[in-house]
Amino acid sequence: MALRNSHPKYSRFRFDAGSLSLNFAATVRHRGAQPRDLLTMPEMLEKWFHLSGLEVFEISLIEFRDAILLREAIHDAVRSIILGKKPDGSDVELINRAAEFPIAVPQFHPGFDRVVWETKHPLKACLAVIARDAITLMGGSDRLRLKMCGSGSCRMLFVDQSPANRRRWCAMSICGNREKIRVHRQRKQSPS
Ligand SMILES: [Zn+2]
Repeated sequence: MALRNSHPKYSRFRFDAGSLSLNFAATVRHRGAQPRDLLTMPEMLEKWFHLSGLEVFEISLIEFRDAILLREAIHDAVRSIILGKKPDGSDVELINRAAEFPIAVPQFHPGFDRVVWETKHPLKACLAVIARDAITLMGGSDRLRLKMCGSGSCRMLFVDQSPANRRRWCAMSICGNREKIRVHRQRKQSPS
């Protein structure tokens, strides 16, 4: 199957959550209202990896399910932290286990003209990269910058990298503007 960046299925991916693991969690859109999973089959995950700078080919259905389980564990754990709760033990265990797998090692290509990333299991190595990102994000000082988009129909998780740490929206150009328009319309409809 030919996959192109411009394909509408893939243009909905978000890569602006502020971290690799949260970009992964953002492959389910509109978690607040009607969740929409952008990864419904292994080919879509392959494409997401590719666009994230990770390469995995021919992901099996079992591997695909493992990836989705990790995604949901990361989402739920981060959400718990944002809500001031302790993450679920089973989510923490799943993320820790995924992080244990050795990540790919750079090796010289015999022609010395490029790098070859060696791993015994490409999918597990990629999931380990994502899980490690999630752990350092949740366990480090950035945990104080973890946010959930203020739009009830979005709820995307993101890292607030603004100096004041007061961002409310996943992106001003998306949910922030929508909210501005909504408030403006409300004011027009009920003039005081
Ligand atoms: Zn949003």
